[in-house]
Amino acid sequence: MAFRGKRRYGIGKKKKETRSASEIVESLKAMNVRTEATGSDYREQSLRIHGLICAKCARDFEPKDRHHLTVHHKDGNPRNNPKDGSNWENLCSHCHEDEHSRGLLGDYLRGKKD
Ligand SMILES: [Zn+2]
Ligand SMILES: [Zn+2]
Repeated sequence: MAFRGKRRYGIGKKKKETRSASEIVESLKAMNVRTEATGSDYREQSLRIHGLICAKCARDFEPKDRHHLTVHHKDGNPRNNPKDGSNWENLCSHCHEDEHSRGLLGDYLRGKKD
């Protein structure tokens, strides 16, 4: 007499998928391809032209604290760097973040936080 039944193979035993740390790092790198190609020397130029003062809250900074000041691009285009500084605004990091969070430029700052 034949046994008629379904035999099931390979039940359960789901292999847990693990990602190696290096794999994760690689994918993060791939996502983060936006590196500063424009260079950051405009920052020094802007500080020289506009002074070590936040254009928004008017807080001024000692030269030793200059790293707290960031250069904001008024038109939102970091590639637009006219030598006369007309597209630059020196903002403290707080004001800079504030400026971007209310506008459409949020992702620009998220990508590059200076
Ligand atoms: Zn400020
Ligand atoms: Zn900005």
